[in-house]
Amino acid sequence: EEQKAQNERLKKRMSGIKHKVLVMSGKGGVGKSSVSANLALEMASRGVKVGILDTDLHGPNIPKMLGVDDAKLIAYDEGIEPFAVTKNLVAVSLAMAGHDVDAPIIWRGPVKIGVIRQFLADVEWGDLDLLVIDTPPGTGDEPLTVAQMIPELDGAIVVTTPQEVAILDSRKSVNFAKQLNLPLIGIVENMSGFICPNCGTEHQLFGSGGGERAAKEMGVPFLGKIPIDPLLMNAEDSGRSYLSLPDTGPAAAALRSLVDKT
Ligand code: ADP
Repeated sequence: EEQKAQNERLKKRMSGIKHKVLVMSGKGGVGKSSVSANLALEMASRGVKVGILDTDLHGPNIPKMLGVDDAKLIAYDEGIEPFAVTKNLVAVSLAMAGHDVDAPIIWRGPVKIGVIRQFLADVEWGDLDLLVIDTPPGTGDEPLTVAQMIPELDGAIVVTTPQEVAILDSRKSVNFAKQLNLPLIGIVENMSGFICPNCGTEHQLFGSGGGERAAKEMGVPFLGKIPIDPLLMNAEDSGRSYLSLPDTGPAAAALRSLVDKT
């Protein structure tokens, strides 16, 4: 009963959002949050009204990647108001809900899922063109809860690295989306090659092309490769949003072309 009421609330609160896209990955650490954050930033800078929802309970890094590390959400009687990052971008993350981001979260599964549900049902999004949802990694209960709870999803983007394991995991994500009848927008291959800043030679540190091959095999669109870019990592590490920096590296062009295709 309580779940039903929550779902109704959620539906109402999300009714002003035109498009909702999940960003998924088979495992953690492949750059799912980086892709989500930069996709949202780039869309917003092109005049699209964007929201980003960080549902990763274990590593809610989105605020840091958007350069708003200290952001706190304000809760009113009517609900939670998303944090305004830029003119066209609002964000909601568990990291903004006031809990200590350095403390590991060791809740049991059902508690975690309850928190995600309640949290999602209380956010008052208002009118948006696009909501980017950074999903917990893998294909377990947490991503399932998120995917099932959000009404009328438009589709999913799967982020992978070129390594074989990540690609195997990403196949699971593709199947997961298929089982949920979620259209696949496509696969992104992140950390794909490193272009030496001194000599310009490309080195395939984790291999390359695996994501593209997997996409072809599974009949899913391939959205492109994003190279390893120390500037991106440094920006995110130091709490600045990568695409707003005056000097960006090779990942910027790749991220922008990803937006063109999405
Ligand atoms: P996930 O959300 O899949 O766990 P993150 O987006 O948090 O992964 O990325 C993991 C780490 O790798 C972060 O420190 C991030 O800054 C870094 N990273 C992600 N993509 C790249 C890239 N293309 N080049 C360099 N560093 C990257």
